Amino acid sequence: MVIIFIFIAHWYSSLFFQTVFLHRYASHQMFTMSNFWEKIFFFLTFLTQGSSFLNPRAYAILHRLHHKHSDTEKDPHSPIFSKNIIKMNLNTIKHYESVRLNKKDYSNYDFDVPRWPLLEKLGDNWIVRLSFIGFYTLLYIEFTTASWQYALLPVHFIMGPLHGSIVNWCGHRYGYTNDKKTIDNSKNTLPIDFLMMGELFQNNHHSKPTNLKFSRRWFEVDPGYIITKFLSKIKIIRLKNA
Ligand SMILES: [Zn+2]
Ligand SMILES: [Zn+2]
Repeated sequence: MVIIFIFIAHWYSSLFFQTVFLHRYASHQMFTMSNFWEKIFFFLTFLTQGSSFLNPRAYAILHRLHHKHSDTEKDPHSPIFSKNIIKMNLNTIKHYESVRLNKKDYSNYDFDVPRWPLLEKLGDNWIVRLSFIGFYTLLYIEFTTASWQYALLPVHFIMGPLHGSIVNWCGHRYGYTNDKKTIDNSKNTLPIDFLMMGELFQNNHHSKPTNLKFSRRWFEVDPGYIITKFLSKIKIIRLKNA
């Protein structure tokens, strides 16, 4: 039972920082926060994504490219132009490395992104990534009560990119559309998205990318939005249109 708790805690803490900090804040700037809170969010993104830390600048630039070129050949991660999920991920890694190492001019997409050079270096360092993998493995050795539980261990290693690929693959392939006018292939995969905290409302999001709320119809639930509203209520963040 402890392993299941560890798994769920890691899944949702990593996902929380991906949807709230990397996506809604760093990429779309749907709200603002003080320098102090930005550092806290940055550090907790590093801590919860651990071995699969996603650099906020690279995430934001890739994500802005994704919106601009959604489901065309220039999209860094479209399931329409990749035969399978592995090919899509390899394409994403290629773009991620290109941004991280400044192989091309990304100045049109590189603005107002949270930066922390020391932590970015640490997060992308292979010794640090392997240390996190060692830590997850030690937790499993300590708390596993049945051998099948070890099957969950590799998920911890790739938690950040795994969430990204579920969203990019399923959210542009499976589900329904509310806005028939969106020219890409974005879909709403789950009407009540507790699995990905609202990230699977891709059709709603691509139709109105600046909306903090990814849900639209009465039955749709976006937990990421509910939490963000709460963060605004307790004054950790400030919503732009509030
Ligand atoms: Zn998308
Ligand atoms: Zn977006």
